[in-house]
Amino acid sequence: MKIGIIGGSGLYSVEAFNYIGEEKIETDYGESSAAFKIYEYSDNRYYFLARHGINHEFPPHLVNYRANIAAFKRAGVDAILSFAAVGGINEDLNPGDIVISDNAIDFTSGRNHTFATMGNIHHIDITEPFCPELRKAVKESCASSGLNFSDKDVYICTNGPRMETAAEIKAFKKLGADIVGMTLFPECSLAREAEICYVNISVVANYAASISRNKLTADEVVETVKRSEDKLKRIILNIDTNAVENRKCDCRNALENTRISKNK
Ligand SMILES: [Zn+2]
Repeated sequence: MKIGIIGGSGLYSVEAFNYIGEEKIETDYGESSAAFKIYEYSDNRYYFLARHGINHEFPPHLVNYRANIAAFKRAGVDAILSFAAVGGINEDLNPGDIVISDNAIDFTSGRNHTFATMGNIHHIDITEPFCPELRKAVKESCASSGLNFSDKDVYICTNGPRMETAAEIKAFKKLGADIVGMTLFPECSLAREAEICYVNISVVANYAASISRNKLTADEVVETVKRSEDKLKRIILNIDTNAVENRKCDCRNALENTRISKNK
């Protein structure tokens, strides 16, 4: 099967696999952040995409999320493991911790956030933003890799690229958020619109504003993710791809019964 991997800040390749080559895929929405790096491992193909570009040139609000997801769709990928570096709001979380997000809040604005167009209207159900079966497979992979993880957490997505104020973090905490990042939306909702299974795997890179006693720096984000790179690669390596291939979730029929028509 074809599995998509989106690498966030600090994760730019998956050297453990057999590297096949690069492929640039044209989409109706422009160019993806980078060409796919394609890997092979145990009869499966892995399409790796560096979300921010290979030189980290795209800030979170300028990533062409539609082109990225459309490119996966065109490549025939129907399951995406999406990695991200986040700030920890919940004090139980520490830098280096792995979070398999349970739900999410969208605080972004001004991004091209949907494939819906005039006359092509669909209201997807995103009650559960992440594929339950991919989440299960990732959790089992963490367990078999001997990795600790947290799976009850809510990811709140801000517009960035600035970090958050102390008051914002206090407010986000009251809203029920455990981690804060800048790239989950519209990536996860576009994947659902494209009927692709999607799971978020976050690495806590730092304590969020006011949770941290120190000034937040971009370097600590990249350094923490770099230190966690081996763990992330083990998660990818140990995923039970047979279970993923035989999943029975509804993601692949996400557009069924989502259209409102005056003829109904
Ligand atoms: Zn699914």
